[in-house]
Amino acid sequence: MTTVTEERAAAGVEVRDVHKWYGTHHVLDGVSLTVRPGEVTAVIGPSGSGKSTLLRVINHLERPESGHVSVGGELVGVRRHGDRLKELGERALLTQRGRIGFVFQNFNLFPHLTVLDNVAAAPVATGRLRKPAARELARTLLGQVGLADKSTAYPRQLSGGQQQRVAIARALALRPGVILFDEPTSALDPELVGEVLDVVKDLAGSGTTLVIVTHEIGFAREVADRVVFLDRGRVVEQGTPAQVLDDPREGRTREFLSRVL
Ligand code: ADP
Ligand code: MG
Repeated sequence: MTTVTEERAAAGVEVRDVHKWYGTHHVLDGVSLTVRPGEVTAVIGPSGSGKSTLLRVINHLERPESGHVSVGGELVGVRRHGDRLKELGERALLTQRGRIGFVFQNFNLFPHLTVLDNVAAAPVATGRLRKPAARELARTLLGQVGLADKSTAYPRQLSGGQQQRVAIARALALRPGVILFDEPTSALDPELVGEVLDVVKDLAGSGTTLVIVTHEIGFAREVADRVVFLDRGRVVEQGTPAQVLDDPREGRTREFLSRVL
């Protein structure tokens, strides 16, 4: 039987000198980043700075033009040999994608499935669990995010904050080694932000590796081990929350913080 205590080992994330272009737009301009297993990293930065692209590159949903990415394993990527691009690690890419949970800004729940089946679907579809075991796991995870009483509801019957908590339970159902969050609270009414951040906080405390793109600076200060400030596709500054948020070295960081705080 699967239980909540059967977590997959936390995975580390390594991003090494990644360059990504959309046409002539250099969206990621040599980004490097290390997230140790169990660490919580908050990624902050202006709109359009490449935060979502960075998460999609980590998830191997976007292929960078050059650079390497690893999620709990070998580096996957492309390396330039003169004009040729050498592809590395196709198999590793699939393995690594299986270690990643992704929580989106707009929840992306299946509207035609109940809350319970939204959470139980992926472990069944991927052959990890049979349906009864997946549903039992889903009940446990829904309890963990405070929604034990909503299992038979449909997404449209829930508030945004509840839907996002279902999405988090759904990500957890695949026992990810790392969970990537792309602005998980920015589509929510202000009074619903806290309940979602509380769930993320619980996860952070339980030793799951988290990479969280967020505009909630207070939250980043409270839960993140490291904060990364991205601007125009570059990591301008990174360090502990105290360093980056309270005593930034770079003018661009100070300017950004003065606008969002
Ligand atoms: P952020 O999440 O920090 O707001 P994004 O990573 O979404 O930034 O986008 C960075 C830049 O890349 C933006 O200028 C955006 O318009 C552009 N961009 C993102 N995705 C695509 C795409 N699929 N095709 C072309 N341009 C894109
Ligand atoms: Mg974004």
